[in-house]
Amino acid sequence: MGNYLFEPVHDDFRKTVREFVEAEIIPNVDAWEEAEEFPIELFKRMGELGFLGMQYPEEYGGDDDILAEAVLHEELARCGSAGTAAGIGAHIAIAMPQIKYFGTPEQKERYLVSGIKGESVGALGITEPNTGSDVAAIQTYAVADGDGWIINGSKTFITNGARADWVVLAVKTDKEKGHAGITQFLVDTNTAGFEMTRRIHKLGWRASDTAELAFTDMRVPGDAVLGTVNQGFLQIMRNFAWERLTMSLGAVSGAQFAFDAALAYAKERVAFGKPIFRFQAISHMLADMATEIEAGRNLTYYALKLYKEGGQPFREVAMAKLFTCDMCVRVTDRALQIFGGYGYTEEYPIARALRDARLGPIGGGTSEIMKDIIAKTYA
Ligand SMILES: Cc1cc2nc3c(=O)[nH]c(=O)nc-3n(C[C@H](O)[C@H](O)[C@H](O)COP(=O)(O)OP(=O)(O)OC[C@H]3O[C@@H](n4cnc5c(N)ncnc54)[C@H](O)[C@@H]3O)c2cc1C
Repeated sequence: MGNYLFEPVHDDFRKTVREFVEAEIIPNVDAWEEAEEFPIELFKRMGELGFLGMQYPEEYGGDDDILAEAVLHEELARCGSAGTAAGIGAHIAIAMPQIKYFGTPEQKERYLVSGIKGESVGALGITEPNTGSDVAAIQTYAVADGDGWIINGSKTFITNGARADWVVLAVKTDKEKGHAGITQFLVDTNTAGFEMTRRIHKLGWRASDTAELAFTDMRVPGDAVLGTVNQGFLQIMRNFAWERLTMSLGAVSGAQFAFDAALAYAKERVAFGKPIFRFQAISHMLADMATEIEAGRNLTYYALKLYKEGGQPFREVAMAKLFTCDMCVRVTDRALQIFGGYGYTEEYPIARALRDARLGPIGGGTSEIMKDIIAKTYA
């Protein structure tokens, strides 16, 4: 599957990442989930291995190979801790791309180079306590002040928000306008007036830190503007397709992880004198799960192919995100059923897989918003 998309170099890369995940991530995820954060050094380690720069230009230390990053997301999602994958993903797939697309040479030199090495960690701050899906309604506001800006407001649910060195913030610069009044700012988290107000405890994604941020008379220089004033919404949209594709890739891998575990368990667990796999109710459940996973994988690879060819396939990406993220919840739920009582405990990986999967239909644009996007393409 996916042979029409990936090349031998990607197969080699997949093997390398898989070995790394098995040796350096999987043995630690239980402890990281318990601690509600993976060690910050993981960024540095992955930077040393060259894993953080796959989609970035070679001149900044990257590989300029978006498919390699796709492989990385698939393999990270097999680690059994979506929170760990999410922390890395927020840095490489949603925060740094904004700098790749819209940064000045100076911003790229400073933030991309260190970000690709894992020496600095980024976050993307769009969502606010009063608005998520409706990005145009954000209230964090910047007023021009001499050669800089003064920002007041807050953000919530920000992945890496508790530990990031810098955050790409969506901020209103024209209150009278909706989408057309948003500007992106690239802000160091040690700026006076920047405060991480609390860490948020969650149902799943526990190994990633998720934070609420507040900005009080936070003065930033003029060169903190990322891209063009009042073009922030269009800039954010530029990377939505990639963010959603990475979530689809993760959802397919997450579902595969749950399927593999459930299949192995069904062949081992004996009830009424035979492995439960021998009951048609169970084997048909597994057949449905496998079919849904392959459907999701193919839809995702098709959208990825269109994206790689240079388009912005909004419909196909929204379809892939909608289908795979909902599918991952269904598949992990069925996997839990196959594990019976053990599935409901923390002694097997399925309870966490289901908790982690539940974020998919919410984060990066909800399933309802994906349906809106798909419907609009037919209007
Ligand atoms: C663990 C986690 C990590 C996150 N990481 C980040 C991050 O790094 N950066 C960031 O900026 N955000 C992040 N988010 C926020 C996430 O993107 C939002 O939660 C998501 O976009 C939904 O916004 P909301 O929570 O405000 O829900 P709302 O927009 O308030 O929606 C509530 C419900 O109403 C529905 N709804 C809203 N509008 C419509 C409509 N037009 N039609 C039909 N139904 C509608 C939604 O689908 C949903 O079911 C994260 C969230 C979580 C939980």
